[in-house]
Amino acid sequence: MRKLDTKTIVVASHNAGKIREIEDLIGPFGFSAKSAAELKFEEPDETGTTFEENATIKALASAKASGLPALSDDSGLVVDALDGAPGVYTANWAEKEDGTRDFAMAMEKVEKALADKGVTDAKDRAARFVSVLCLAWPDGHTELFRGEVEGTVVWPPRGSQGFGYDPVFQPEGYETTFGEMSAEEKHGWKPGDAAALSHRARAFKLFVETCLKV
Ligand code: IMP
Repeated sequence: MRKLDTKTIVVASHNAGKIREIEDLIGPFGFSAKSAAELKFEEPDETGTTFEENATIKALASAKASGLPALSDDSGLVVDALDGAPGVYTANWAEKEDGTRDFAMAMEKVEKALADKGVTDAKDRAARFVSVLCLAWPDGHTELFRGEVEGTVVWPPRGSQGFGYDPVFQPEGYETTFGEMSAEEKHGWKPGDAAALSHRARAFKLFVETCLKV
């Protein structure tokens, strides 16, 4: 496992919600971070079929373009009753013909797919959010960290915080959706804490333990 020995990194993402969350998480560690969006890097094609492959593609593209270590996130919502869909294609389900993304529409698609299967009971609506973070160096070395959080797809959507599919995801053991939680509640983690809540914070905790601690 390679340690990170610089405090300047690139957040290899063009997704404003993810960038905000990753910047929140790295903030306490004193990094100076710019995103791939700010640096105007082209978005690489996500041609992989796993979260790990796509996270690696994104992190390597930013590391090579910047000459700096780059941290990416590939994530998605995995719904058991839909055989794991939308999964690695979670962002694609939100894509409109004009290329923009509409997450209200994407959440409705998930609900319609569940309705088409006759799934209504909460117990049959199990899902998890998955986040795979990849830290890549310009020489091509990569480290991967996976975080998952179990929960239920709820309908109708609740809450206007967070991003993406947050309003329809209620983590196990909670009465609120991610859309109803503040960023701090959704992460459920700060440096030194033994556990984290969100998939991204869980993956980030592994990144801290592996790449930042001596
Ligand atoms: P990708 O990683 O760029 O392929 O996109 C993953 C998609 O999953 C995002 O566009 C979001 O819609 C969704 N997603 C990932 N993480 C979260 C989250 O924390 N909350 C809500 N939606 C998420």
